Amino acid sequence: MGTLKLSREALYSNLDIIAQQVGAKDKIAVVLKDNAYGHGAVLIAQAVAKYGVTQAVVRLESEALEIAEFFENILILADFSTVVDSKFSYAINALDAIEKFPRGTKVELKIDTGMHRNGISPDDLKRAFKCMSQQGLKCVGVMSHFKSADTLSSEWFWQRKAFDALKETAVRLAKSYGWNIRFHISNSAGTFRSSQCTDDLVRIGIAMYGCLQMDPTLLQPTLKPVLSLYGNKMATRILKEGERVGYNGIYEAAYDEVVSTYDLGYANGLDRLASNQYVTPQGIALRGRISMDSATFSTDMDELLIFSDANEYAQCVGTIGYEILACLDKDLKREWCD
Ligand SMILES: *Cc1c(COP(=O)(O)O)cnc(C)c1O
Repeated sequence: MGTLKLSREALYSNLDIIAQQVGAKDKIAVVLKDNAYGHGAVLIAQAVAKYGVTQAVVRLESEALEIAEFFENILILADFSTVVDSKFSYAINALDAIEKFPRGTKVELKIDTGMHRNGISPDDLKRAFKCMSQQGLKCVGVMSHFKSADTLSSEWFWQRKAFDALKETAVRLAKSYGWNIRFHISNSAGTFRSSQCTDDLVRIGIAMYGCLQMDPTLLQPTLKPVLSLYGNKMATRILKEGERVGYNGIYEAAYDEVVSTYDLGYANGLDRLASNQYVTPQGIALRGRISMDSATFSTDMDELLIFSDANEYAQCVGTIGYEILACLDKDLKREWCD
């Protein structure tokens, strides 16, 4: 199976840029959901902890358990608690979710400031605090999420304003229940929309992995992709002029051509829509259909760089780097290259 090579140099350079943007390392919470966007959750957790990051964000409790030893606290975005761990806090995504958490659970209240995906309405703030208290929960944060911080529009501004507007009330309510709360709304794009970080925390995913794409008219930090995907050669042959390769033979050699098949296919994260279209950063063309576990390229290299920037592969198949990264097979070999 293919190999993912990870660059510490790129990771730390990205974290330097992010820390500079928000003013302090301890304002960064690294988002490690979905196997750290395909990079390998434990590998990235170890490396960012060594860098000095103490907070993480995941989707599931099982993901939090896997990396718990590396962080002081972990926010779980979309799961319920089955263990009591004072390091974990759970996002409350709806009013009726409050009663599903056991007494003593630490929670953070998600507010819908305009994305309308999840979170409670700002009008329900008081009610939510009361419910959390009655359920015996401990609220440690109030959070929201930007819907379009990466695009040039006023949406970012309006959500920012809505979030800031409820801070005072939230602090007052929290105090009345004896809770100390933190505020956070920004993802990667939100973090780079403003030179002022007015919250306690930012939740950084794609920027740390070096694949943030902002609207070209917005400030674009010079981040470096952390991950490169390589294929290992399984077989080489000369495709004679007129011969066809792979399922349905959609590629026909126009001349005698050396081709090799590599150990990566759509089951490992190579989106099949790239079949017969994609050209690697070294200018090597993908020939014919991508199979489940293999793909053929016009070269005889033993180890072939498939992509070093997920956004470039994504562009070839009409999606975004996030999807390419998140769909990388968990079983791919992952190793540091520096
Ligand atoms: C995934 C996620 C993030 C990170 O977003 P990036 O754009 O990758 O920085 C932040 N907050 C929430 C709630 C998320 O689901």
